[in-house]
Amino acid sequence: MGRRAKMIEKIKTLMEQHDRIRNIGICAHIDHGKTTLSDNLLAGAGMISKDLAGEQLALDFDEEEAQRGITIYAANVSMVHTYEGKDYLINLIDTPGHVDFGGDVTRAMRAIDGTIVVVCAVEGVMPQTETVLRQALREKVKPVLFINKVDRLINELKLTPEELQNRFMKIITDVNNLIKKMAPEEFKDKWLVNVMDGSVAFGSAYNNWAISVPFMQKSGITFKDIIEYCEQDKQKELAEKAPLHEVVLDMVIKHLPNPVEAQKYRIPNIWKGDLNSEIGKAMLNCDPNGPLAGVITKIIMDKHAGPVSACRLFSGRLRQGDEIYLVTSKSKARAQQVSVFMGPERIQVDSVSAGNICAITGLKEATAGETICSPNNIIEPPFEAITHVSEPVITVA
Ligand code: GDP
Repeated sequence: MGRRAKMIEKIKTLMEQHDRIRNIGICAHIDHGKTTLSDNLLAGAGMISKDLAGEQLALDFDEEEAQRGITIYAANVSMVHTYEGKDYLINLIDTPGHVDFGGDVTRAMRAIDGTIVVVCAVEGVMPQTETVLRQALREKVKPVLFINKVDRLINELKLTPEELQNRFMKIITDVNNLIKKMAPEEFKDKWLVNVMDGSVAFGSAYNNWAISVPFMQKSGITFKDIIEYCEQDKQKELAEKAPLHEVVLDMVIKHLPNPVEAQKYRIPNIWKGDLNSEIGKAMLNCDPNGPLAGVITKIIMDKHAGPVSACRLFSGRLRQGDEIYLVTSKSKARAQQVSVFMGPERIQVDSVSAGNICAITGLKEATAGETICSPNNIIEPPFEAITHVSEPVITVA
């Protein structure tokens, strides 16, 4: 079997093992390195050619995207990562980093259970860091922290080891203060990020290396080594010793929840129906044998396939050819093609089960935010309307 065929088989197997799935996003203030990080994670995990990361990746994407890397309009990319001898499927959903895309950010947050918050080590926590983190926490999406552009602290700002440490501590404290302020009550303590347990990583997305305390313990690499590699212009070597994707994806797998864990507390937050009903229970348990229920988080225009709906399934199984009911638009449609992602590529599959993120073609009436179900088992009410948090709330007296 060729490499591609093997990877497809691996993804199909992992899709049915819910404890091996992580649905995540990356959120950041603009220019802090979200695009660079996503591209290099994918390249590192072997899902795209290393030479193409951050460059002109997919030739049939439009020009703006080709210039910016893969992540502006790609709704989802998936990768396989091995952690402690086991394979995991990581679905990375694009959360646009710009303020103008606020609505899109929130919609994407609905599809994910965890997020990597990227903060530039030079600029520190910025206003949009707070906005995107608030959106994540409001959707009960758990954060981990990646402090990026550490190379600049060493090579441009020439900070001493002590100054470096102070800079990191300040960023971690700022992020934790935001988490304390904005996290759902039950997670205010549990979701704080912590250097020692490895829910914080540091590195340079651009130069492809990263480090965390657990990785330092495992590899024997110290901060002193990192400083030397940077100062001596040996970041390529460092990237081989402390690869970005390994450190960051290890953190994702260890600290971010799988869909079965996450749906237990996320469903009551986003669905106000009867949790004791058949569909309520099925969603809480991420049950692939329950009635179909999902939410469309983004519509991508594909030159060949037409509109493609990116969908997070919370319950049931969607099969190719199934009839689907769109709850808000009160219309029916047929899922012509159901596919999952391998890198940025879509692979058609026979069916996709609860807890996964898939792409569906044929839903012409679908809009982002739409609830989908089976026409024989209509979910009422639809998922909570997705609102953009920075919009003022108008109350009518
Ligand atoms: P986004 O707006 O958050 O997607 O940010 P980008 O990934 O587009 O990065 C913004 C700029 O910062 C680009 O010029 C990148 O090359 C640069 N950049 C990203 N990560 C690093 C890093 O680790 N070190 C340095 N020196 N530059 C970086």
